[in-house]
Amino acid sequence: MHFPDYNKRKYMFDYLIVGAGFAGAVLAERLAKTGKKILLVDKRNHIGGNTFDYYNKDGLLVHKYGPHIFHTNSREVYDYLGNFTTWRPYEHRVLASVDGMLVPLPINLDTINSLYGLSLNSLEVEGFLLSRAEKKDQVLTSEDVVVNKVGRELYEKFFKGYTKKQWDLDPSELDASVAARIPTRSNRDDRYFTDCYQGMPLHGYSRLFEKMLDHPNIKVMLNTDYKEIEDIIPYDKMIYTGPVDYYFNYCYGRLPYRSIEFVFITHETEKFQPTGTINFPNEHPYTRVTEFKYLTGQLHPKTTVVYEYPTADGDPYYPVPRRENADLYKKYQLLAKETKDVYFTGRLATYKYYNMDQVVAQSLALFKRIQSTIQNDQHVVQIKNTILQP
Ligand code: FAD
Ligand code: UDP
Repeated sequence: MHFPDYNKRKYMFDYLIVGAGFAGAVLAERLAKTGKKILLVDKRNHIGGNTFDYYNKDGLLVHKYGPHIFHTNSREVYDYLGNFTTWRPYEHRVLASVDGMLVPLPINLDTINSLYGLSLNSLEVEGFLLSRAEKKDQVLTSEDVVVNKVGRELYEKFFKGYTKKQWDLDPSELDASVAARIPTRSNRDDRYFTDCYQGMPLHGYSRLFEKMLDHPNIKVMLNTDYKEIEDIIPYDKMIYTGPVDYYFNYCYGRLPYRSIEFVFITHETEKFQPTGTINFPNEHPYTRVTEFKYLTGQLHPKTTVVYEYPTADGDPYYPVPRRENADLYKKYQLLAKETKDVYFTGRLATYKYYNMDQVVAQSLALFKRIQSTIQNDQHVVQIKNTILQP
């Protein structure tokens, strides 16, 4: 039997990167371009993390882990990802099924007029919402944030039931930041996001990732939990993007994550619903239904939709933003800071409810930090060499 000589530098990876989602792939790409040798491992059988998309058996492009719509206010992030894809302009729109009607979400002028049979203008709708808002001295929870803006009735129609299904928590048990993701508008803007840059990768996320990782310095190993190989493959430093509590063997207990079961249905019709996503705050056990063709722009005689059923078990998709979880995360964060030669980044490793663009921005920032450390170290070596020269 042949055992490689691990002491030989040529067998060594500079970085073992755990997780081939955006957090890991950005660092693999950036570091490989500076000449570093990267081993990127993922326990799944594909790259792309939660953004992974593929053509189903009917030939429709679908997102395996639920609908992913790209939006950002960061020119840097948009341009950086633009190196690996052409963007297809797309602005997402959502209707909510409330009181037997489909009305725009975020709540806007048309939502109020349709629900209450009114014909208010923008100024009047502001007055309408103000008259219903229950002003809070402190806005701490997701209930506070909504009731403070639109009052209890609209809160109950749009937020209470959806949030209970999504998180199995009452909005009063969740940080304000969760419901604050959804604004309220007094105009007729019915876009879900208002970021400056919005779009979808023209040929899908998986193609984007293939291009990102197409570099001779990057080796990809799938179907592999990093714990299976970390002791047998030599590497210098690690970048970890998996769940932070798993890295530390749950030494302080498990961090709660919320999961979702995705149910895909293909219909023998070109179009199934009137917009990209329909939310169901009050009826059905699922939260929303998304029709992929709106997102992808694909032309096809059939169409696939996905139903999202939130669950406690399954892959960890959402960190759960609430005080006690932040406190537990802080303990892991301290351990992470003390762990030499391992960097933690991404939604799971930093336990943050981040969108894709925030994860890319976080990893680009980490790359800059790593770069400046490398440059400082090189500088120190140069100074030492200069001093040592006779
Ligand atoms: P991930 O994509 O989760 O990647 C982490 C990878 O690490 C995974 O592939 C995992 O298999 C791997 N891994 C974990 N543990 C190990 C281990 N022990 N060994 C080896 N590999 C491991 N964001 C948006 O901007 N717009 C949206 O519309 C949007 N929609 C979303 C819808 C849903 C249903 C969900 C769940 C998320 C959505 N997001 C959206 C958020 C987006 O998915 C994340 O921001 C982003 O994918 C996080 O990237 P990441 O690399 O941090 O994590
Ligand atoms: N939300 C709600 N009703 C809705 C849509 C959203 O109560 O119709 C709340 C809910 O708590 C949800 C949060 O707002 O988890 C954030 O919604 P978003 O659409 O941003 O969730 P994501 O796309 O990340 O699942």
